[in-house]
Formats: sequence, structure tokens, C-alpha cells
Amino acid sequence: MKLSVAIDGPAGAGKSTIAKLVGKKFNLMYINTGAMYRAVTLMAIRENINYSETQKLCQLIENLEMHFDKDKLIVNEEDVSEEIVMPNISKNVSNYSAVPEVRELLVCLQKQISEKYNVIMDGRDIGTVVLKNADFKFFLTASPEERAKRRYNELIAKNVEVDYNNILNDIIKRDYIDSHRETSPLKKAEDAVEIDSSFMNIEEVVLYISNYITKNM
Ligand code: C5P
Repeated sequence: MKLSVAIDGPAGAGKSTIAKLVGKKFNLMYINTGAMYRAVTLMAIRENINYSETQKLCQLIENLEMHFDKDKLIVNEEDVSEEIVMPNISKNVSNYSAVPEVRELLVCLQKQISEKYNVIMDGRDIGTVVLKNADFKFFLTASPEERAKRRYNELIAKNVEVDYNNILNDIIKRDYIDSHRETSPLKKAEDAVEIDSSFMNIEEVVLYISNYITKNM
């Protein structure tokens, strides 16, 4: 039986941690679409390509071979998983992901994967665009302060020197660009179940989603 789950929401809401755990429970391939936009941003910055240089960006993407190997994102045989979560990429990614041509290419790739496998995908436009017909859709939120706190702790645990207020400001700015762009902005799909995780821990959210899926399967 084919099964697909969409998880959308703003930056730092815990989507990837939760999607990974729910994916394990239901034997679904986890696709972190944010990582794909981050990888494009990383490669573009390395090549000195600005987000306004659409043609160059498309060429760059067409020459990227991206695949997930367990939790790692491999791009042209290089594991970029650590580098793409660094603050410099977080700061720039929303500008690159707002380019319609970039979205078109990545959405096409994401749809191809979802046709082949049972997937759980997280992102901003999964329930509204990529998996419009997903069996289950969730929209995960939390207050900006709580989300910034989680990102801050994650980075500190990786020994990255960061400032909480900078992270909070970046998150607010990124949410604004993501929700106001013209092409597939971040928004809750009408048929998505909204979960505010401000006062829930990871286990509670995973349990809520798992029970919901099991009950409605
Ligand atoms: O999920 P994550 O925070 O890693 O996503 C990084 C960025 O990638 C988002 O802020 C957004 O600009 C972009 N993104 C997107 N559409 C998706 C997933 C991520 O535009 N489906």
C-alpha cells in the first residue's frame, strides 16, 4: 500500500527530528526538502552565483546529483550534511528558495522520489504543492522564541559559536520571506492538522502524529 506523509511549518519547529522518527515507525523514506534548498545555496555561494542569476542557478542545479544516504545528503559524491546547517547557509537560503525556477527543479525531483517510494517529507510547500494528495498532512508550529532556543541548543551542541538573538532574528526574517514569496509560500494546507509544539516535547509530538496516522489509516 502506498503511503505518504507531509510535514510543513516554519523554521526550527522540529519538523526534521519528528519526521525522521515517524518515518522509522511507519517504514517511510524520510526526505528533508529544506536540505535540498540548503545544498543549492551552498553550491551557489561556493560558485559565487547570486540568487538573481537565474540561468546560472538552473545550470548549477542541473549539474548536481543529490541523494539521501540515511540521514546524510550527498551532493556530487560529497557529504554536505554538516555544512548546510551552518548559520551562513540559514541566512541566505530563503533568497535562493524564493526563485521560481529553483523551486520548479527541486519540486520535480521531490515528486519523482515520492512516486517511487513511501515517503515522509518535510518542508514549506509539501502539503500544498509537492504532495498535494498526501495521505496525511501536518503543520507544525511553535513560538519564534522556542524555535530559536531549539536551534541555538542544536548549534551549541555542535560547538558552533552562536548568539541567541541573531538566531531569533534570522528565524523571524526567514519565516517572513518564506511566507511572503510569490511561488508556493509557506502556508498551512487546508486539510493539514495543525500542531503547536511550543509546550510539547519531541516524544509527545511523535506520539500524537503516530496515533493520528494509525487511527486514520
Ligand atoms: O527546513 P529548513 O529550515 O532546513 O529549510 C531551509 C529553507 O529552505 C527554508 O527557510 C525555506 O526558505 C526553504 N524551503 C522551501 N521549501 C521547502 C523546504 C525548505 O522553500 N519545501
